[in-house]
Amino acid sequence: MSVVSKRVDLFQKAYGYTRAREAMAAGVYPYYIPIEGSTDTEVTVGGKKLIMVGSNNYLGLTHHPRVMEAAAAATQRYGTGCTGSRLLNGTLDIHEKLEADLAEFVGHEACIIYSTGYQANLGAISALIGRDDVVLIDKLDHASIVDGCTMARGETLRFRHNDMADLEAELSVLSDKPGGRMVAVDGVFSMEGDIAPIPQLLDACKRYEARLFVDEAHSLGVLGQTGAGAMEHYNMKGKADLIMGTFSKSFACVGGFIAGDEAVIHYLRHHSRSLMFSAAMPPGAVATVAACLEIIKNEPERRTHLMENARYLRDGIRNLGYETGPTETPIVPVIIGSLEKTLAFWRLIMNEGIFTNAVVPPAVPPNACRLRTSCTATHTREQLDKVLEAFARVGRKLRSME
Ligand code: PMP
Repeated sequence: MSVVSKRVDLFQKAYGYTRAREAMAAGVYPYYIPIEGSTDTEVTVGGKKLIMVGSNNYLGLTHHPRVMEAAAAATQRYGTGCTGSRLLNGTLDIHEKLEADLAEFVGHEACIIYSTGYQANLGAISALIGRDDVVLIDKLDHASIVDGCTMARGETLRFRHNDMADLEAELSVLSDKPGGRMVAVDGVFSMEGDIAPIPQLLDACKRYEARLFVDEAHSLGVLGQTGAGAMEHYNMKGKADLIMGTFSKSFACVGGFIAGDEAVIHYLRHHSRSLMFSAAMPPGAVATVAACLEIIKNEPERRTHLMENARYLRDGIRNLGYETGPTETPIVPVIIGSLEKTLAFWRLIMNEGIFTNAVVPPAVPPNACRLRTSCTATHTREQLDKVLEAFARVGRKLRSME
C-alpha cells in the first residue's frame, strides 16, 4: 500500500516561481547582468560598451590609479584575505588606522569596520535594541535597517517618509513605556535621492530622549563641505548619536562602518553578531578605502564636479518631462509607473547603450516603478548628453505606442 504524503514540499515555492523566467523569455529581465569589463563610467556587456548610470561610484574612484595601486600593495603585504573575524585572527593594523581616520572624518570618538554596509546596519541595530527598547524607522529606510530591526529583540515602529509629525506622534504615544528609544534614518534615501530633515530629527530625539542613528551610505563623499555626509550638510557633523557608512559607493569598494562614542563602539565590538561571526574586510579593500578617504579629503573638486553633473542630469531628465521626485543628490530616479512599462523602458534604454537600474516592488510602491539613474564625478558632458538623448528617443517611442 502506498502512503500519500500530505506535506507540502519545501521547494514547491521555488519550482512554482516563474515570474523572473517569464521576464527573461520576453527579453526584459534587468538583473544579474554579467559585466565583462569596466571603467569608472562605462561597462562592457555582451561585447557592447554601455554608459553606466546605474552605479553608486559617486566620485568615480573605482579605477583611480592611486586607489588600485594601494589595493595591490596591501595584497602583496598582507595577502588576499584575513581568513577570520576581527574578534579572533582578522584584525590588521590597517583596519585600526582606517577606523581612527574615519572616526575623525565624521566627527565621532570611535569607529568599527564591518565587512559590508548591510552587516553594519544589521549588527549595530540588533545589538542595541534590546527587549524593552523601541526603534522608529522611516518607511523608506534601506532594507538593511529593516533587517537589523527584524533581528533585534525590541519593537519596531515605522513612520511616514520624512514626516516629523508622524514620528512625534509615535514617540509621544510611547512616552510612558519603559526602555530606550532610537530613531534610525537614511541620510540620503537610496531610491529617491532626497535628504532626511536632520535638524528636526535631532530636535525630536532630544525632546523625547531618543538616540539618533543616521545611515550615511549615499551621503559620505557626496554631501557636506568636506564630504562628511548629511550631518555635515546641515553643519551638524558629529551631532547624531551613531552614524553608519558604507564603502560600496563613494569609497569604491565594499565594507561598512559604525561611528559613535567610544563606549558604544566598544560594546558593538563585543555584541554585534554580524561583526563577530563573519570574516574581516580583506587587506586590499581596507587599503582601497584608505586611499579613497585621502582623495575625498584632498580633492574637493571631485565633489563639485559630481554636484554639477547631478544637476545637469536631473534638470535634463526633468526638462524631458519625466517625474524624478524630490531628489537633491546624484541619485536621479526616472519614475515610469507600472512594472511592465518600466521593464520595457529598461530594455529600450539598454538597447540605446545606457545601463540603468530597474527598481520594482517591494523596493518601491507598485505604481512608482522606476529606472534609478545616478551619475559620477567623472562622467563627461558628452556621456550625460548621450544619456539624455536616449531618454528622449525612448520616451517618444513608448508614447507613440500608447
Ligand atoms: N544603507 C543604504 C542606504 C544603502 O543604499 C545600502 C546599499 N545599497 C546599504 C546600507 C548596504 O550597504 P552595502 O552595499 O555596503 O552592504
